[in-house]
Amino acid sequence: MRDQITALKELQKIDIDLKEIEINLEKFPNIISDFTSEINQHKESITNQKSALTEIEKAKSLLESELEQNELSIKKAEEKLFEIKTHKEYEALQKEIADMKRSNSDLEEQILQKLEEIENSEKKIAVDEETLTSKETEYSQKIEEYQLQIEELKIVHEPKIVEKNKILERISTEVLPIYEKISNKNGQALALVVNELCTGCNMNIPPQLYNHILTETEIHQCPSCKRILYTTQGE
Ligand SMILES: [Zn+2]
Repeated sequence: MRDQITALKELQKIDIDLKEIEINLEKFPNIISDFTSEINQHKESITNQKSALTEIEKAKSLLESELEQNELSIKKAEEKLFEIKTHKEYEALQKEIADMKRSNSDLEEQILQKLEEIENSEKKIAVDEETLTSKETEYSQKIEEYQLQIEELKIVHEPKIVEKNKILERISTEVLPIYEKISNKNGQALALVVNELCTGCNMNIPPQLYNHILTETEIHQCPSCKRILYTTQGE
């Protein structure tokens, strides 16, 4: 039974390694894709801000040409004032000019507002572009590191599986299902007995069972956590 325990210990060691490798082989590509999508989100946000900026600039141009048109109309109306004969007509035209001037100062205010929006938007875009550049540098370095680690993990993964299969050949068909059942449930299927305590769950091992473990004639499980027990005796 000692050789079974030896093989199980080797199996447990390799299973722990394999689990870590497999977790990272799944985790690292996800980290890389998170980095990539964060960068893409940044790029998309900048693109959206730029098209919003273009819209504001268009709106500002429209206001400016409206203002220009109105100024022309005011000028024409003011010239017309000199040709008017009746007082009533004169007053009507003067009122029209005052109205146009009022609407123009409204337009000027709106243009100023657009200018301010443009300035703020340009500032924000510049800051975001700077952040994007530094993130791209940082992330591309990290992505490269993770890709390297993935390659390294792939290189060790295959030989570990070959090694595991060789160990499995040494384990009896009665013992293996016990090992697999406990390791699926508890992570580790073996527990060392120290000072008559199971190190898997800290339960006291009854003296009679402890003596059986020492004789190593068969596989013994902890009465509490069901792990396969072994001692360092004879090592
Ligand atoms: Zn136990």
